[in-house]
Amino acid sequence: MLKLPQSAYTSLRRHGEETYPHECCGVLLGQIGDGIRTVSSVVRAGNTRTDSAHNRYNIDPKELIRIQREGRERGEDIVGFYHSHPDHPALWSQTDFLEAHWFSCSYVITSVEKGKAVLTNSFELTGTDENDKKLEKERIEMI
Ligand SMILES: [Zn+2]
Repeated sequence: MLKLPQSAYTSLRRHGEETYPHECCGVLLGQIGDGIRTVSSVVRAGNTRTDSAHNRYNIDPKELIRIQREGRERGEDIVGFYHSHPDHPALWSQTDFLEAHWFSCSYVITSVEKGKAVLTNSFELTGTDENDKKLEKERIEMI
């Protein structure tokens, strides 16, 4: 389960509207305990995929390391990632699945239709390695 403050929910959906028709992406920081990820902050990231930014996203590894370090200084861990699907459903794609490597993290996807954020879904990356991993839909609880 993903516990998301209303402000974080609004922020990540607005990010998708701002970058439309391109995908946005970012990182969710907070705490993980007993399978519950509680978000305390949302960090926007630049989409490095300029070749196909409408249906691909990628966070620069250097930027990710910086976000992780700055989070740790505030006592926050990476609990998930988010991105948008411009004019596509809020479901993970094969590429999303192949590029998901953070086990026990949440992958949040927002569909943005004609510039308006519509649906936001979250999927937990379960399993232990690349052979048994799964993206399973999880509940988002607003806090
Ligand atoms: Zn995607």
